Amino acid sequence: MLFDLRQVHGERAHVERTFEPAVFDPPDPDYRVNSPVRLSMDIEKAGTDVFRVTGRVLAQLELDCGRCVEAFDLPIDGTFELRYVPQTESPAEAEREIAEDDLTTAFYREGVLDVIDLMREQFQLALPMKPLCRDDCQGLCPTCGTNLNRASCACAPRWEDPRLAALKGLLDRQKEN
Ligand SMILES: [Zn+2]
Ligand SMILES: [Zn+2]
Repeated sequence: MLFDLRQVHGERAHVERTFEPAVFDPPDPDYRVNSPVRLSMDIEKAGTDVFRVTGRVLAQLELDCGRCVEAFDLPIDGTFELRYVPQTESPAEAEREIAEDDLTTAFYREGVLDVIDLMREQFQLALPMKPLCRDDCQGLCPTCGTNLNRASCACAPRWEDPRLAALKGLLDRQKEN
């Protein structure tokens, strides 16, 4: 969805919309959108071609756990406060704009704001560094692949203290002598 910024004249414009998951296609490799996403935002003019955009996005993303690779849901409740400036050809000009205050600067093109991009950006900001289905996820057994959250297996723990391994090597050598 594109929002035409030229329709904002002095007054603030309010957008309240629900988006079906299909508008987020093609899907991002980091997450999936499986349920409707709610967006509410206010747009107001903050300069000749500068717009202040504040709002909130509510969604539920599906991620894959980094340990057990099972899918899990991540609720998103993101508020944002952005300053939209026209995308310029010259990076120096864009940088000068950014230095003005500490609002996050975003760019619009040809008078329109890409609302889907805005929401995607909020999703990215909310993604954890390492997605986990739960903090104490036990992951998969490295030997047999059993999901250790749901079952246990008979494999011996593979982790071995390297110092212990060195000692064992020493003992083995002693046995050989
Ligand atoms: Zn997990
Ligand atoms: Zn195992």
